[in-house]
Amino acid sequence: LIRRAFSSIFRSPDMPVPRPVLNDRLESNIQGLYVVGDLAGAPVIKLAMAQGYRVAVEIASKAPAASAEWDAIVVGAGAAGLNAALAMQARGLRVLVLEKGCIGATVDQLPAGKWIYAEPTDEAPVGPLVLEEQTKEQLVELWRDQVRRAALAVREHEPLTRLSRDGSKFDVETAQGVYSAPYVVLAIGKYGTPRKLGVSGEDLPHVHTRLTDPARFARQRVIVVGGGNSAAEAAVALAGHAASVLLSYRGDTLTRVSKTNRAKLDEAIAGGRLELRYHSSVREFRPGVCVFETGAEPCDAAFVLIGSKPPRAFLNSVGLRLENEWTGQPRFAAALAGVVLVSLSIFGGTAAQWPALAGALLCAAYLLWRGAARHDRYALLAFTGLLAYTVYGAKQAPGHELWPFRGWGFEALSFFGRPWSFWYTVLYTAAMTVFGIQAMKRWGWDRKDRFQIWRYVSLLGFQWVFFFLIPEFLFHWAVQYQWVGQELASDSNFAGNAWRSYGLVYAWPLFFYTFFGSPHQIWILWGVVLSFVIIPALALVHGKRYCSWICGCGGLAETVGDRWRHLAPKGAASIRWERMNIVVLVAAVAITLGIVLRDAIAAVGAPADAALVWYRLVADLWLVGILPVALYPFLGGKIWCRYWCPLAKMMEWFSAAFTRLKVSRFAIHANEKCIACEECTRNCQVGIDVMRFALRQETITTVNSSCIGCGICVTVCPMKVLSFAPPEESDRKPQLVQIKSAA
Ligand SMILES: Cc1cc2nc3c(=O)[nH]c(=O)nc-3n(C[C@H](O)[C@H](O)[C@H](O)COP(=O)(O)OP(=O)(O)OC[C@H]3O[C@@H](n4cnc5c(N)ncnc54)[C@H](O)[C@@H]3O)c2cc1C
Ligand code: SF4
Ligand code: SF4
Repeated sequence: LIRRAFSSIFRSPDMPVPRPVLNDRLESNIQGLYVVGDLAGAPVIKLAMAQGYRVAVEIASKAPAASAEWDAIVVGAGAAGLNAALAMQARGLRVLVLEKGCIGATVDQLPAGKWIYAEPTDEAPVGPLVLEEQTKEQLVELWRDQVRRAALAVREHEPLTRLSRDGSKFDVETAQGVYSAPYVVLAIGKYGTPRKLGVSGEDLPHVHTRLTDPARFARQRVIVVGGGNSAAEAAVALAGHAASVLLSYRGDTLTRVSKTNRAKLDEAIAGGRLELRYHSSVREFRPGVCVFETGAEPCDAAFVLIGSKPPRAFLNSVGLRLENEWTGQPRFAAALAGVVLVSLSIFGGTAAQWPALAGALLCAAYLLWRGAARHDRYALLAFTGLLAYTVYGAKQAPGHELWPFRGWGFEALSFFGRPWSFWYTVLYTAAMTVFGIQAMKRWGWDRKDRFQIWRYVSLLGFQWVFFFLIPEFLFHWAVQYQWVGQELASDSNFAGNAWRSYGLVYAWPLFFYTFFGSPHQIWILWGVVLSFVIIPALALVHGKRYCSWICGCGGLAETVGDRWRHLAPKGAASIRWERMNIVVLVAAVAITLGIVLRDAIAAVGAPADAALVWYRLVADLWLVGILPVALYPFLGGKIWCRYWCPLAKMMEWFSAAFTRLKVSRFAIHANEKCIACEECTRNCQVGIDVMRFALRQETITTVNSSCIGCGICVTVCPMKVLSFAPPEESDRKPQLVQIKSAA
């Protein structure tokens, strides 16, 4: 069951294409092997060219090894590869380019007359390759001419088949021979090979996987299979020429077709030139016939346009490390974590101490040995064991803590007269600060994006002021120097409970103890105002931005967990999992009511107390503290916020209600410029298929998504499609005109 549940997510077709793991210089895990262009995440020609140029400068700055046949070999003669090769050759390097098809093959394969735009317009193209806005035929011809004039060695129709490292040089194999060079630039794009249906007859000559010239199919009966933009565009283009066009799709709605293409489809359907058939699956192709599950249809030509398979197998064969790959030994790591967990749960209390401690130490050793030294991602499972021991061991009743959190161990950990919990907060804040500055640089400074800079300033500011300085220092000083007034300062119920000041910003039910455990009435009053006045007001204007601008739990995910944000589960199954936080919210409400009412209604006392023990263990320890952090490198940073946080669910309901009442100020709008590059979807840490909304120009709200308003999708979109402001108020004026036919 668990395996099925996980595979429904990880095998989801909505998970983005995995990319090779690269360093800042675009070098892969194999020294001297660089990856550029679409495969490295540059979604348009100008950005792909920029990466090619960067790598060319880097390679040219290193002394070439004279022993090799070539100084560098570039694989792929697209925008990125050609720019890299021309730039290196201009710097005096001997460069060979290997190309599977022809020069500029990806652009060349776009439909005839397709207009190519040179975006983003606020960046100039870098490097020797020419980029001008014109038809794809003109652009490819321009590139070919440039290659001829530069006398660049490009071997067309000679795909790379094998790559191996031999000492300080690479052996690059093709069907025609083996070439060697100390540096290889992989610029093979991300399209790999066209996907197939896997039915018989797919190799017949009348079955195609791309459409270049619709006019060739004049007066023919054509079937197009697919549900995305390319199928829709092809069907519309063919409808202008063919005798009949049938667009066959196995689903029940075209979710990834742009609004513009949808309108063109509808027009062609209304004009009787095109039939759109949902829930139809092809069984077989035969000469002149296409057999569906429901019966056979005459067909002179068929187009199977169901996307392409990323070149994953090829990348694996080369030895490239891909970002989503789980390498390592799960069983051993899980067994070690299991020793800790089983010891803690079976023995409990101090009886668990020695077996659990042994397990925790083994976990630490395993983490260092396999995780740090051998990049074993499963070693993080061992981290779960370590974390569980630490949190569980320290959280026992006073005097019953596990070693080293009591006795002389406690003394040893209490530097400068401060208990371990203080140092835990210091560690948490320090980690957030270090990784927060990195994330701020990545999304803010490097992209000159003020929204992201302010977001990280806000997250770090709240962490420092409200989740560190106030509870650990300012509260004590406020009591000591009577800044809160003499009465409060001398009230031990107030003065002796500095931890309650976390409730200044953490709202119930995330801060679970707001209303019970004998709080001073000032905290009850503030808790009511915060949870039921301020939080709804925030939700009205900002949706769930509390999660990505304020909260410390979300803050750790946004900073320490940021590098894994693209791993957030995507697809329908992962969205269904979000219902789990309803269960946690209902439990939090029921237990709070039970505890608050137990004096008045004696019958609820015992069950409420028992439930509280469980809630503390399951929600307050495991779901908020241990599991999400251990799962960062597997499922991205937002596991707690997305799946379990009861406050996030509460805010979602408030915000959704405001949206339905049409008073909400929170939404993400899209203009018509989306080119389906998937950058937004890939980087959404709560797994929203942002591209689907963008293509259909559908507004994202808290009714149709669990958006937390981090704005990363807006930031990464190379076409400035997305905006928090409605189109009429947006200052993000569209910069790219949609890729469209020149005709
Ligand atoms: C429908 C559509 C329209 C687009 N319109 C625009 C636009 O108007 N403006 C814009 O800026 N961007 C546009 N793009 C995006 C643009 O095409 C890509 O950003 C760009 O092509 C990326 O360049 P690249 O060099 O990284 O990869 P590619 O251009 O894909 O080049 C990769 C090359 O590697 C070759 N190759 C693959 N495997 C091997 C192998 N094993 N051995 C040797 N060679 C190999 C391929 O044949 C190919 O020639 C569009 C994309 C699509 C799908
Ligand atoms: S949709 Fe955009 S703003 Fe909303 S959570 Fe995803 S990336 Fe952040
Ligand atoms: S909206 Fe998303 S898919 Fe569309 S262009 Fe922007 S980042 Fe790419």
